[in-house]
Amino acid sequence: MTTTGTEAPVPTSSAAAGIVMADRPLAAAGERLRLLLAAEAARLGRPAPDVACLGDADTLAPRPEDSLDARARATVHLTADAVLVGPWGGDGTADGTACGVCLAMRWQRLRGSAQRGALEAGSGTTAAGTWPLPTAALATAVLALHQAVTGPTPPDSGLTGGDRRLPRVTRLDLATWHTVTVPLLPEARCPGCPTAGAHPEPEPGLALISRPRAAHAYRLRAPESYDLPAVALANPVCGALAAGVRTDLTSPTTAPVAGAVLLRTSTGLTEMTWSGKTGSFRRSRDLGLLEGLERYASTLRQSLVSPLVASYDSLGDTALDPRDCGVYAPETYAAETRLRPFDPARPIPWVTGWSLRDQRPVLVAQRSAYYFEGSDADAFVDDCSNGCATGSCLEEAVLFGLLELVERDAFLLSWYGDTPLTRIDLDECGRPSVRALLDRAELLGYGLHVLDTRADLPIASVAAVAVRRDGGPGHLSFAAAAALDPAAAIDSALAETLTYLPGLAARVAARPDELEAMAEDFTLVRRQDDHPALFGLPRMAAQAANYLTPSATVPFASLRADRPEGPHDLRDDVRRCVDALAAAGHDVIVVDQTSREQRRLGLRTVRVIAPGLLPMDFGWSRQRALHLPRLRTARPGAPDRPLRLVPHPFS
Ligand SMILES: [Zn+2]
Repeated sequence: MTTTGTEAPVPTSSAAAGIVMADRPLAAAGERLRLLLAAEAARLGRPAPDVACLGDADTLAPRPEDSLDARARATVHLTADAVLVGPWGGDGTADGTACGVCLAMRWQRLRGSAQRGALEAGSGTTAAGTWPLPTAALATAVLALHQAVTGPTPPDSGLTGGDRRLPRVTRLDLATWHTVTVPLLPEARCPGCPTAGAHPEPEPGLALISRPRAAHAYRLRAPESYDLPAVALANPVCGALAAGVRTDLTSPTTAPVAGAVLLRTSTGLTEMTWSGKTGSFRRSRDLGLLEGLERYASTLRQSLVSPLVASYDSLGDTALDPRDCGVYAPETYAAETRLRPFDPARPIPWVTGWSLRDQRPVLVAQRSAYYFEGSDADAFVDDCSNGCATGSCLEEAVLFGLLELVERDAFLLSWYGDTPLTRIDLDECGRPSVRALLDRAELLGYGLHVLDTRADLPIASVAAVAVRRDGGPGHLSFAAAAALDPAAAIDSALAETLTYLPGLAARVAARPDELEAMAEDFTLVRRQDDHPALFGLPRMAAQAANYLTPSATVPFASLRADRPEGPHDLRDDVRRCVDALAAAGHDVIVVDQTSREQRRLGLRTVRVIAPGLLPMDFGWSRQRALHLPRLRTARPGAPDRPLRLVPHPFS
């Protein structure tokens, strides 16, 4: 918050600059600091740095009268509790150069919801105390710091890896005068940078190219092989994805690392979380940062170029009908005033996708492509991350996006279709990691088993179920996976189940009445975490009989598809999946969401859309899967059997 109460005499020249100092204490302090710096610099015969203030204007959506040029040039930034000196350094390339607006945008995103609300919703900030008086001593310190970092031999900040080539910012704390230096990731959407917004034009077509891979290896690079700027992505001054990383030192099953940042969406400030849950904190951090970058790119459109706005009716067959991806029940639209049924005559924004089945461009509703984008006009669905994936190349990203869609579709078919399921004999799997996962679950008092959830697609799809042996709270936990390598699918589903087990009983015990009410009235299941928590109630086991009492145990080898052996190539893998989906009547559309930050790191992010597959939704009133024809047509066994009208347990 900006503060009032400074009793410092305001330099007279500020009045000439037209600043109403009584109403803008931060601006007054900034102007005073600027004059003090100018005087000190003149005394030393040096140029004075430009000064800007952070915290009294919305830098994410600047007003026309805000001077972007002045802010972009500034290398001294005054906040309520610190002076930020920079950006300085960097390797001088376009991706290693940032301006003061880049810093201001990244800094603002890390503020708390109260301050961001005040800045961005236009309600303004109010006085919260006495503003620290910029003194001559402070100006001397700031100028000395400025000279040190911008001089011919700037200090070595000790940064390594991908952080090393980035510009830096040094924070001088106004209370303690401690300094800390962090790297700054240039902001791809910065209006102050000459190179920002210069996104490559969308490619005319997404041509898949040959990507040879090793047998059983569907990722071409390990997470740690990316030169991730880990500090620039998570630091308290200007972290792109979080103010810091949270490591959970108490988990008995994994070494989890997580972070979060607030993003502004059509419904207000929404927390974008990311996490990595592996057996090593370093690997979890890298995987978490990769997930954060993926979510950053796939939640909000990164391009500064305005999307096409048109009605579906006017676009004809050049566009995907959003209704093909599923809509809510009429009662949902009637009950939730923010939602509106899709209207083909209403103009809405569209982005370009590419059909891998038909080899042609297809327009996709922006709302269906970026899950935090939206306006009143296109509030026909609240999607989530279905089909978003990152890889080292387009082919890898598309494959993993596709597999996620298949995984969720297979799970929902088995759940809502109440399909009889077979249990996979895990002893035959032959992976030491599987044995280790089963043993870890036993230590926590859970038995784990894996079920074959394939329906009509020839891709290994499994569900893992953890059952608490003593029947206590935190009773069931579910996860799913699909993969071209069946052993990898089993590994992945088991590992994901294990990440949920620690703390599950406590999450149930924290709100027993609420969950019991949900078990009686499913419409109370509204949030994502309600779904898995509900199945922590032992009584819900009765609703999951086909997962707990499989019809048979089948050999692991039965999960293998009849596929030709080698040569191993990701392009062929993608084509096989696309052909399989096409044979089942579904297109595969890819929206390239790669952000500039990701492109520099050698990453690609896509959203894969397969219209008609059952999408994962959260909230009982929002289950699009229940209204899609596939739920009736693709169920193995008896298509006339009643559906299981119970919220899914997926998290
Ligand atoms: Zn910039």
